[in-house]
Amino acid sequence: MGGTDRIPFNRPHVVGEEFAYIQEAISQGKLSGNGVFADRCARWLERRTGASRAFMTPSCTAALEMSATLAGIEPGDEVIMPSFTFVSTANAFVGRGGVPVFVDVRPDTLSVSAAAVEAAVTPRTKAVVVVHYAGVGCEMDEIMAVARTHGLLVIEDAAHALLARYRGRELGGIAQLGTLSFHETKNIHCGEGGALLVNDPALVQRAEIVQEKGTNRARFFRGEVDKYTWVDTGSSHLTSEVATAFLWAQLERAEELTSGRLAIWEAYHEAFEPLEAEGLARRPVIPDEADHNGHMYHLLLPEAELQMPVIEALKRDGVHAVFHYVPLHSSPAGRRYGRANGELTVTDDVSARIVRLPLWYGLTDDEVERVIRGVVNAVTTVSPAARRPRAESPRPEAPHPGESGRAPLLDTTRTAR
Ligand SMILES: *Cc1c(COP(=O)(O)O)cnc(C)c1O
Repeated sequence: MGGTDRIPFNRPHVVGEEFAYIQEAISQGKLSGNGVFADRCARWLERRTGASRAFMTPSCTAALEMSATLAGIEPGDEVIMPSFTFVSTANAFVGRGGVPVFVDVRPDTLSVSAAAVEAAVTPRTKAVVVVHYAGVGCEMDEIMAVARTHGLLVIEDAAHALLARYRGRELGGIAQLGTLSFHETKNIHCGEGGALLVNDPALVQRAEIVQEKGTNRARFFRGEVDKYTWVDTGSSHLTSEVATAFLWAQLERAEELTSGRLAIWEAYHEAFEPLEAEGLARRPVIPDEADHNGHMYHLLLPEAELQMPVIEALKRDGVHAVFHYVPLHSSPAGRRYGRANGELTVTDDVSARIVRLPLWYGLTDDEVERVIRGVVNAVTTVSPAARRPRAESPRPEAPHPGESGRAPLLDTTRTAR
């Protein structure tokens, strides 16, 4: 069917050297954690981000769990974070009895503000987790200042943000701790993978122990202690050389992979300018302080009622677009384990209006054109229909963003095409 093949939301890119490096790892005869390839990846991350030490982990989730341990989270300790994020941001802290305190995000960047963080501080607050949504940096100077005033540890969930900068500084390398994801949906990947960036030198030694199942194995191998034993809590937060060998191939091409994504991002951004001018969609907002990494492209539709019809219309055109996140403060586990600090109006509103478009390295010019045409078509045909004045009888209930079931499409959307 050639040109009408479906365009997936994500397709994990393979640069080509992965297999050779995996073979090299195998021939070295050591495949467990912190081997030659993990070392190469970690030193690369340290050079790039300025971290005191980088630890290669099985996932960003695992790096967040290490962070919760290093932050000394105890039952009842509050951790301020956005509700508009992936579940792992919260789950890692809940696992140690921490209480997520969800705050709202800025309407422009969709990331937390220093003011929202400060308003949520209580005597029980222990830490703050910020998420650099879409690789666009949070207002880190202001957030770090609030944290210093209240004696809080800050963790950057930089899962989206590898090679993105805020005021010239690499994201993930600014707060005491930063976490990265190498999941296949992220800019640089190894299927499943992650890293913990320890930027505060005082936390490095304990991080080594936490990563190595609570043992001082790392010190033993450096000859600093004469036996290797259980000294603290920890887990197996190590990753196999098979994964880091794969990852090394991608890190070597990190610049190229990032600029490839940025080019697609720019093409979308330019093409949707007229939609924004007509009030049919709002494009991402990038503050002057932020150099982003083209991690994702989203549009905000003018009304929540349009979200599912637009996604459905794109699907009929063979374009797989998605919405996210289901806000954590309204999720079953978020309600059980955390609490919202006040009304999270931006979070609720944005999650009901957002549409994320396919964006991956290797998307061809032709495919980018098809996505653009599909979006323009969907937005311009669905919008007027869904905006018609309501009839006497109440409309069927608007689809909840958390339900992937079919939206109640209005008949007119089809005839309008
Ligand atoms: C992807 C993601 C994670 C989880 O990453 P894994 O490597 O899959 O554990 C955490 N936080 C955010 C914001 C993410 O987007």
